[in-house]
Amino acid sequence: MTIQENVPLAPLTTLQVGGSARYFAELRRDDDVREAVQFAKARDLPLFVLGGGSNLVVADSGWPGLVLRVAIGGITTQSTDAPGNAVPFSVGAGVNWDDFVAQAVVQNCAGVECLSGIPGGVGGTPVQNVGAYGQEVSDTIESVRALDLKEDRTVVLPKPACGFRYRTSIFNTTERGRYIILRVNFRLKRGGAPSLKYADLQKHFAGKKTPPSLAETREAVREIRRSKGMLIVPGDDDCRSAGSFFKNPVLGEAQFKDLAERAESRGLEIPSYPALDAQRKVSAAWLVEHSGFSKGYALGAASISNKHALALINRGDAKASDIVELKDEIQHGVQEAWGILLDPEPVFVGF
Ligand SMILES: Cc1cc2nc3c(=O)[nH]c(=O)nc-3n(C[C@H](O)[C@H](O)[C@H](O)COP(=O)(O)OP(=O)(O)OC[C@H]3O[C@@H](n4cnc5c(N)ncnc54)[C@H](O)[C@@H]3O)c2cc1C
Repeated sequence: MTIQENVPLAPLTTLQVGGSARYFAELRRDDDVREAVQFAKARDLPLFVLGGGSNLVVADSGWPGLVLRVAIGGITTQSTDAPGNAVPFSVGAGVNWDDFVAQAVVQNCAGVECLSGIPGGVGGTPVQNVGAYGQEVSDTIESVRALDLKEDRTVVLPKPACGFRYRTSIFNTTERGRYIILRVNFRLKRGGAPSLKYADLQKHFAGKKTPPSLAETREAVREIRRSKGMLIVPGDDDCRSAGSFFKNPVLGEAQFKDLAERAESRGLEIPSYPALDAQRKVSAAWLVEHSGFSKGYALGAASISNKHALALINRGDAKASDIVELKDEIQHGVQEAWGILLDPEPVFVGF
């Protein structure tokens, strides 16, 4: 295990802002992760676990302690060839998420095809229960293997223990900072049909005579994402972001009714979808665009993406403080217009 000092973090994130890590280690084995944790403990250093850096805003002052980047690789599976069979995959936290999806699709295994093109590592996906185009990673996760820093031992958390909900899990709520995810175990369906619940996907395949394959669905998702700046494409400034910057608000019945009435009084209809427990999930992008902000709206070197109202981008030389200033302005504007405080999706590191 090598510990480096004063390592710039901006190049390790998709938003590309922020300062340096006082100490930094990239770790490929469980034992190295343990050793790095001991290094931090012995010096009383705060620890931050970095994945692919695609859901982060790192402070301009950087991180004063140890940044531990989990680079554990390996995708193992069992061959059960019969269509319809559940196929277990055990995937190292450091494997690139989209490489895993590609491999699942090549092996004709359904369950993650709609999550194609999401950047970052496999270990980051359970943290906010990543989701897109009608699938969530929790639909196929069976368990998560992690180093439990509280108990100082490796544990395997079965799915119910992970507390998955919309963009949350125990890893980013009740047990934040407690676990370092080492591997994620999935169960996919050999020969399963692709999930086509989402309107964008249905539109893409409208008029197609035969049902799309998993590979065609994967390509469609990547294409739709590319058009929205939600795929990392070298040279596309609109993807220098942390993805969606705000979560879609989930409202109770009364709050939703109030919002819908406000919209109606302005001759507008707010896009919404059913959520758990009689709640409604409301489009955060719609709220942003109906609060005086449009795609491309800029505040100095930070702006809203030209392709997606929910992505805040670094136009080239933005600082973390520029991104935060823009975030504050949008939150304030939406609250003034609609009485809703948007909740940011990325993790703020070192603030
Ligand atoms: C262009 C773009 C599009 C995106 N589209 C989507 C989308 O469609 N849906 C969606 O849900 N998200 C999306 N995201 C957000 C992001 O890609 C996901 O949240 C991703 O899973 C984050 O993984 P990461 O490895 O990059 O984690 P990081 O950004 O490095 O870290 C995020 C959080 O996870 C923690 N973490 C990471 N790895 C581990 C580990 N091994 N153990 C413990 N904690 C860990 C970190 O400490 C941090 O709190 C998008 C981002 C971008 C830039």
